[in-house]
This record gives sequence, structure tokens and C-alpha cells, in this order.
Amino acid sequence: MTETIYDAVVIGGGPAGATAATDLALAGHSVLLLERGGRIKPCGGAVPPRLLEDFDVPKSLLVARARSARMIAPSGRTVDMPVGEIGFVGMVDREDFDEWLRVRAVECGAERMTATFEKIERDDQPHPLVAFRRERGGPIEKIRTRCVIGADGARSAVAKQALPNASRVKCVFAYHEIIKSPANDSESFDADRCDVFYQGRLSPDFYAWVFPHGDTSSIGVGSANKGFSLRGAVANMRGDLGLDRCETVRREGAPIPLKPLKKWDNGRDVIVAGDAAGIVAPASGEGIYYAMVGGRFSAEAASEFLKTGEAKALTRARSRFMKEHGRVFWILGIMQYFWYSSDKRRERFVSMCDDKDVQQLTWQAYMNKKLVRSKPMAHVKIFFKDTAHLLGLRAETS
Ligand SMILES: Cc1cc2nc3c(=O)[nH]c(=O)nc-3n(C[C@H](O)[C@H](O)[C@H](O)COP(=O)(O)OP(=O)(O)OC[C@H]3O[C@@H](n4cnc5c(N)ncnc54)[C@H](O)[C@@H]3O)c2cc1C
Repeated sequence: MTETIYDAVVIGGGPAGATAATDLALAGHSVLLLERGGRIKPCGGAVPPRLLEDFDVPKSLLVARARSARMIAPSGRTVDMPVGEIGFVGMVDREDFDEWLRVRAVECGAERMTATFEKIERDDQPHPLVAFRRERGGPIEKIRTRCVIGADGARSAVAKQALPNASRVKCVFAYHEIIKSPANDSESFDADRCDVFYQGRLSPDFYAWVFPHGDTSSIGVGSANKGFSLRGAVANMRGDLGLDRCETVRREGAPIPLKPLKKWDNGRDVIVAGDAAGIVAPASGEGIYYAMVGGRFSAEAASEFLKTGEAKALTRARSRFMKEHGRVFWILGIMQYFWYSSDKRRERFVSMCDDKDVQQLTWQAYMNKKLVRSKPMAHVKIFFKDTAHLLGLRAETS
């Protein structure tokens, strides 16, 4: 009897894995998408309109559109940043969004299986075996594949097995509570606005948020500080905002990796994508769009590898991603390191957001996912303003 062999087994059916499976199937490869299921990914669900365009995602999957962001400083000072005509911040509910992406992968020709990945095994054959269980405590089953795509999220088991140093990726831990949204808007809650709190008491090294999702809202906080009580911070925030009276739907948390791995492939037949590759934007924690880009680039690289047999093709996913997004990640990393390190700096950071040039460039960068080159003088102006804020030469109220 001949053994079934897939061109690719994609492990993890989140945004990265579902995108990779879709693209590989569309390129004519045989693909198995393996997702363990049973858990909604904890996530604020904020996505840029660019995601809908680049990945043909229908607007009907948006449960809300925020038209502005409110930045809140340690002193309580607020700065509103209206998005203006150039777009909005879309909100998706991950339960429906991820499932839609997985269903599309199947419609495009991928096979889907609910199972938990265990390990990659090698025998005397040229291609590896993927070992998995369909249910907890059930028997181990194995399937052969020419290529493995690890899209199994932060703390990826595939990355830990196949790539050196993957287990040492630095993460922020993020925790949020999904609540029933208040029936009416108030000064402290607006169904069309994202609120972002830069306050050391809510997060000593990241930020806290309120993201409206229509009937529900996500109230959360992130920090890499292991001794800091994320639950306590969310409870304080809910109390301060009068959201403690709203019904809690779910409480959940997960790590967010904030540094791309140095290597995404094993030089042979395994490649990682999305959180498994560490590609979440520093400072903002935005990972859904980048996971889908990573899934797409990994699929392209894997497809080339499958066609040519050259393992070197796998390295192209990372080099392409870093070429397109590495500079933005680098700048955001510096921003996080500098501006999120004390309340004094956070206060200045929020002051800086009052500047119309800063607001325009921030929203353009968010919407377009690149640094806009059309207004070089605006960058120069911001650089000088930034430096003045950094050195404390500028008044807080600017
Ligand atoms: C609290 C919180 C809030 C966030 N808010 C935002 C936000 O507002 N906007 C934004 O853009 N990003 C946000 N992020 C980041 C974003 O959620 C991630 O970057 C994104 O989900 C990464 O997608 P992924 O497909 O790489 O991984 P995941 O979405 O984590 O998907 C991995 C998949 O692999 C499956 N899996 C894992 N292990 C196995 C296994 N052994 N076998 C089989 N399947 C497995 C999981 O079930 C899961 O479906 C947030 C993260 C957190 C934790």
C-alpha cells in the first residue's frame, strides 16, 4: 500500500496558518491544516483596513469600526486622535474571524483536521512525519509531508523542536476581559473609540486598552513584568471607568512575542509563521495583520521549495518580511523601549500625540503598513519635536 504524503502540513489554524494553507492550496499543493480547536484566541481583535484589502476579507466580518483613539497619560490627561477620512480601526471577533479563514482554506482546496500536534519525527525516508492526536489521551497518529509550516502561535511547539533559541523569545503577557458593552456612551466609554492607557499603575512597561466590539468590549493590559498583577490592573481600570457594573463574558490571556526570530526555517523542510516566528509589532502589539503576511510569505517560500527542492528557498520568507516591515518594527521597538519606561516619559509621549503631524503619520503608517515617504518634511519636523520631547525641552502641553 502506498503511503499518503502531503506537500505541506500546516500546524495551527489561526490567521498565519489559515492564510498559509489557503495560499498553498491555491498554488496547487496538497495541504493538511491541523488545528487543535476548543479555544478562542485571546485577542483585542483590532485590524487595519489594509488587512481586508490584502487578504480579501469581507467587511461583514467587522463587528465595529473605531473612528478615533484616545490616549490617556499618567496624569489623566487625554489626547484624542481622530482617524479622519483615511480609514478606521476595524474590530473582529476572533472566534468568527479565525473560523472564516479556516473555512476559506478548505474551500480553496486544503484538507482540515481537528488534532493536536505532538512532534516532528524522522525515519529512513527523505521526508518527515508529523505526529498528532485527534483527542486528548488518544493514540498518536502520523502523517508524512514534504514540508511543515509551524503556525502554532507564541510558544510554538514546532519552533521549539525545529529551531535553535526559539524557546527563549521574549514575550509580553497580555490579559483581557470581554464584557458586555454599556448600553450608552459616556465620557469614559465610546463605542466608536479605542482607548489606550499609558499609565505605569496599569502597565509598567506596555499599555492598557478598551476596544469596543459592538455588543461586547475587550478591556486588557500587557506587561513583561512577571510580578505585576494584570488581573488587578484590569479590575482597577474597570472600576475607574464604571465598567465594573458590566457583565463579564470571558477572562483570558496569552503571551505576545515582540521580536522576530533570527531564523524561521530549519534549512531543510520546516518553516514557522506568525506568532511562532515572533512577528508582532513592538509598542502596539499588533499581530493579526503581520501573522497573515507571515503566513503568505511562508507559503510562497514553501511553494518554491516544493517546486525546486531547494531548501534555501525557505529563507526568503523572513528576508522578504524584514525588507518590507523590519524598519517599522525597529522604530516601534525603540519607541517601546524609550517611551514606555517611566510615567514621566509616558506623559511626554501622550503630549506628543497631540501634534497633528504625529497623528497624521501614525494613522498613515497604521493604515498603509509602511512609513509614508510622500511628506519628508513632516518626518523631519517630527524628528525635531521628538528630540525636544525626549530631552524635556518642550512643555508637556505642546
Ligand atoms: C490579549 C491579546 C490581545 C491582542 N490584541 C491584538 C489586537 O487587538 N490586534 C492585533 O493585531 N493583534 C493582537 N494580539 C496579537 C494577535 O492575537 C496575534 O499576533 C495573532 O493571533 C497571531 O496569529 P497566529 O496565527 O500566528 O497565532 P494564533 O492566533 O495564536 O494561532 C495559533 C493557532 O495554533 C493552534 N495551535 C497551537 N498549538 C497547537 C498544536 N499543538 N496543535 C494544533 N494546533 C495548535 C491554536 O489553537 C491557534 O488556533 C493580541 C494578543 C493577545 C494575547
